[in-house]
Amino acid sequence: MTMSTFVWLQNRVVFGRRTKRMARLLLAAPAIVDSASYRWLYTRRMVGEMDRLSQKPLFIRMETTNRCRAACSFCPHQAMKRTEGEMAMGLYERIVSQIRRMDIGRLNLHGFGEPFLDPHILERIEIARKAGIRHIATNTNGAALNDKLIDGCLDTGLDEIYISLDAATEDVYRTMRPGLSFHRVERNIGKLVEAKRKRGDSRLKIFLSFVECRQNRHEVRPFLKKWSSQADGISISYLHNWGDRLNFNPRGRAVRRDPCRHLWAGLDVNIEGRVPLCCYDYETSIPLGDLKTQDLEEVWRGEPLARYRKHHLRRDYANIALCRGCNANYHDKNPWWLSQ
Ligand code: SF4
Repeated sequence: MTMSTFVWLQNRVVFGRRTKRMARLLLAAPAIVDSASYRWLYTRRMVGEMDRLSQKPLFIRMETTNRCRAACSFCPHQAMKRTEGEMAMGLYERIVSQIRRMDIGRLNLHGFGEPFLDPHILERIEIARKAGIRHIATNTNGAALNDKLIDGCLDTGLDEIYISLDAATEDVYRTMRPGLSFHRVERNIGKLVEAKRKRGDSRLKIFLSFVECRQNRHEVRPFLKKWSSQADGISISYLHNWGDRLNFNPRGRAVRRDPCRHLWAGLDVNIEGRVPLCCYDYETSIPLGDLKTQDLEEVWRGEPLARYRKHHLRRDYANIALCRGCNANYHDKNPWWLSQ
């Protein structure tokens, strides 16, 4: 076999979309996920990863705005009581320089709001890029994307954009994302794909997201068929229950839990600079620290996070209000570190 055939096979078969999807489906199957051998392997590997990750997070996720105009049926935004607004630029710049100092490779610019409603979003991407952050990504519902923002995404050197669609048809989209126009979002995606194609050498990777639940499960296949050739990737994930705050659990089955990866993989920062327990903590009800007065490293190595990790390592979830009934562990029990 020649080297080029080998590379072709590797890209198409080993790392191909179908293989990945098949692996994802297999790894989500209760018979595998709950088997003693998989749990043993997973926990063994997790412990190794935890040691490595406790040195520094893989990513920082910054909420630069928590405003949103949509009323998505599975999102806690409408229940959120925090005041809406944007992160102050001075605070943002200070945190970016700390990310750089800790040599954290990835910055995700989104939280409990629509990033493209933040009037400074392009400036923020530029600041992070100039500071030398290696990988900058954002998640959007795509409704606010206009020509200026599309050009800005390509000009500023954004690396990844995840556009949440969750439906292949307008009817299903309306039930999932009331308040937004399916056709407008599809049009915006088309414009972005076309603008990227025209530039030829753009670094931007466009991913379309689909959060699978009861209402849209039957549209997974049509969605993949519709978008696979246009996007750089499709992300399919499962709906969770936001740490037992909102009962969206589509699977409704008991889970055998392991320590949660969210306490080791990254840190979230809200618009005020406060650090919540994890990305499910939309009210920052369990704060790990405050970056207005502390450094990122101080929070990462701080007592609160260490204490919550210890609870998890002992499988003692009942002592953390948010984790007690959280179903994240079911959804995340796959070899997630492979894609980092
Ligand atoms: S178990 Fe749930 S609430 Fe607790 S850290 Fe993990 S994702 Fe967050």
